[in-house]
Amino acid sequence: MPELPEVQTVLSTLEHMISNRKILSVKVLSPEVVQMNPDEFSFRLTERHFLGFKRRGKYLIFEMEDCALISHLRMEGKYFVEKSTDPIRKHTHVIFHLDDGTDLRYHDVRRFGRMELIDKSTDYSEFHGLGPEPFSKEFNAMYAWNCTRKSKRSLKMTLMDQSFVAGIGNIYADEICFRSGLRPESRVSKISKARWEVIVQCAVDVLSEAISHGGSTVRSYTSSLGVTGLFQLQIDVYGRENQPCHICGTPIKKVRHNQRGTHFCPVCQRRL
Ligand SMILES: [Zn+2]
Repeated sequence: MPELPEVQTVLSTLEHMISNRKILSVKVLSPEVVQMNPDEFSFRLTERHFLGFKRRGKYLIFEMEDCALISHLRMEGKYFVEKSTDPIRKHTHVIFHLDDGTDLRYHDVRRFGRMELIDKSTDYSEFHGLGPEPFSKEFNAMYAWNCTRKSKRSLKMTLMDQSFVAGIGNIYADEICFRSGLRPESRVSKISKARWEVIVQCAVDVLSEAISHGGSTVRSYTSSLGVTGLFQLQIDVYGRENQPCHICGTPIKKVRHNQRGTHFCPVCQRRL
């Protein structure tokens, strides 16, 4: 599932490709993806321009003249920018015909992704119950310590809780735990304010490094693979079971934690 850095990369890529393009018409092939009457969805977007590109948590926000199109990719959603004359791929659910002879096409094999239209004046600070953005000043050690000192949950589950902090999923939760030197299953109630300073900084570092890695590929991007935001990430633990730890060489371990595949170095990370 795309997480904050991938969503940010998709957003930057699309901004580069379709900024200020006018939508001539919209074709909804799978009504459940747009969460409203497809005719109304099309009507409200026709003749509008892609004016602003924002992100909140894992949501893409495309600002038009009088509304905003919100898109969540969930598991496998991706966008293609193709010529309007190109054949339409299987699993394409929404097509935006643009004024330069191209289409923005939403593709999703599992059809879990969702779009919605909201008022342009919507306050995104509490949008969909999301907690603060990792890069905002609201996400700090004092906030984290206050939220968690009585919690029975683990560090990993807390980092993945979108109401605690927005945008982190399974991959980056494991990476942030590694960078912080703590096991994912560590109890958050045992984490001191001083240690939260470290974890917050690690979260910011891990996510911004991933964004800058993805961002460097934006301009050379070819749309034939779809805009997924998934590039060669600099990963320390996720998906590296039995491979040597980048710091100490010990094989990375994989366990199941709350039904999620969870990776850590048994030497570099300690359990609280
Ligand atoms: Zn190690």
